[in-house]
Amino acid sequence: MSVVTRFAPSPTGFLHIGGARTALFNYLYAKHHGGRFLLRVEDTDRKRSTDEAIQAILHGLSWLDLKWDEETYQSENADRHREVANQLVADGKAYKCFCTPEELAQMRENAKSSGGGTRIYDGRWRDRDPAEAPEGIAPVIRIKMPLEGETTIADLVQGDVTQANGNLDDLIILRSDGTPTYMLAVVVDDHDMGVTHAIRGDDHLNNAFRQLQIFKACGWDVPEFAHIPLIHGADGAKLSKRHGALGVEAYEEMGILPEAMCNYLLRLGWSHGDEETISRAQAVEWFNLESVGRSPARLDMDKLLNLNAQYMKSADPARLAGGVLADAAAAGITVSPDAEKRLVAGMPGLASRAKNTLELFELSKLYLTDAPIEMNEKARDSLKDDDARKTLAELAELLKKATSWGEDELDGIARAYAESRELKLGKVAQPLRAALTGTNVSPSIFEVMAVLGREETLARLEIAAN
Ligand code: GLU
Repeated sequence: MSVVTRFAPSPTGFLHIGGARTALFNYLYAKHHGGRFLLRVEDTDRKRSTDEAIQAILHGLSWLDLKWDEETYQSENADRHREVANQLVADGKAYKCFCTPEELAQMRENAKSSGGGTRIYDGRWRDRDPAEAPEGIAPVIRIKMPLEGETTIADLVQGDVTQANGNLDDLIILRSDGTPTYMLAVVVDDHDMGVTHAIRGDDHLNNAFRQLQIFKACGWDVPEFAHIPLIHGADGAKLSKRHGALGVEAYEEMGILPEAMCNYLLRLGWSHGDEETISRAQAVEWFNLESVGRSPARLDMDKLLNLNAQYMKSADPARLAGGVLADAAAAGITVSPDAEKRLVAGMPGLASRAKNTLELFELSKLYLTDAPIEMNEKARDSLKDDDARKTLAELAELLKKATSWGEDELDGIARAYAESRELKLGKVAQPLRAALTGTNVSPSIFEVMAVLGREETLARLEIAAN
């Protein structure tokens, strides 16, 4: 049997990090088994679904590099859902219910006062002849749930979970306006898409008992279920707005690399020994459902940020440079071909100092423009001093005579100059850094000079010295 998984988001908001993790697990499970990973946008609730949310979900999945093999929109399958509902009626597995709103309200009252079980609908149209239907009432279609016994789900994460059938209402599968309910749509689509494994949040476990009965009524194979514990905040409480950053796009905006995000989400509730840094290829090779934990995982921002810093160091410099150039374009900074070359050459030194892509962009600015560069307050301050400017002018004269422009030689020239004036190297390096970077934080100043090249270095020194 070839494995088919699906991610089935309801497009009512952004791609929640819980949803992103569900998508990742489905993706990895499918790829581990050489199967297919499908995307089904559950847009049946037309009022709450928005195009904006759909775009946010598609963007989020693409950003995380979770490529889906097929894409469907649930609302497009409504005819098929209706057909199945009517077939179930024809087969005697479902029935039309003509209850009035008043009758239903009364049933809810009765259920409340009797205080037992979760079954509310009393089944009054279950075996009644539709010929007795009152006039002017458009019926709904309800599924016949078993009245006795129990339903057990052999969940691949939770183990066996059992529910008394007495708790299962004859739920509505088709509304009186002919629209399918969510519960029916999920079952029909999972069947039609050939889904073999439904991996999703454990807030859907209760639905699974009901869905299993719909599968059975249709005479279809039931997929395997795997209900994964939800993600909680650092305080152990269910994730909510108050925990901040719930959508993956917020992490993208925070400068997190997608592979760091995936690695972090993977470790949130799944483990492989003590491995912390896990590449996509390793994740595909190792992923299994047995190692998904049964208790909720806690979101830990520090861990994510540390992991990200690690990924920054090992990311391909050309790719990071591409990201910086895109940020520069968005910020309206024009980057000359020379500056672009400097950026690529200096990238390893920059990336090893940046914990995220926002910091990387800030650090990169020193290479992005040609002289004259912008100076921040601190840099300007350290160049106010006459002696500092004299230092720069003298050093520039020595640098002009350098026979090669490597880091070591530049370092040697600056040291020899500092010694000749009986200055600490820091006294020379500080104005040098201000002049060359416009800031007071940067990679080693000799690395910066080497990357900037002779001409640009001297141009910046000259401007600062005067
Ligand atoms: N559309 C549901 C949700 O976004 C998921 C349904 C499912 O995975 O079966 O929570």
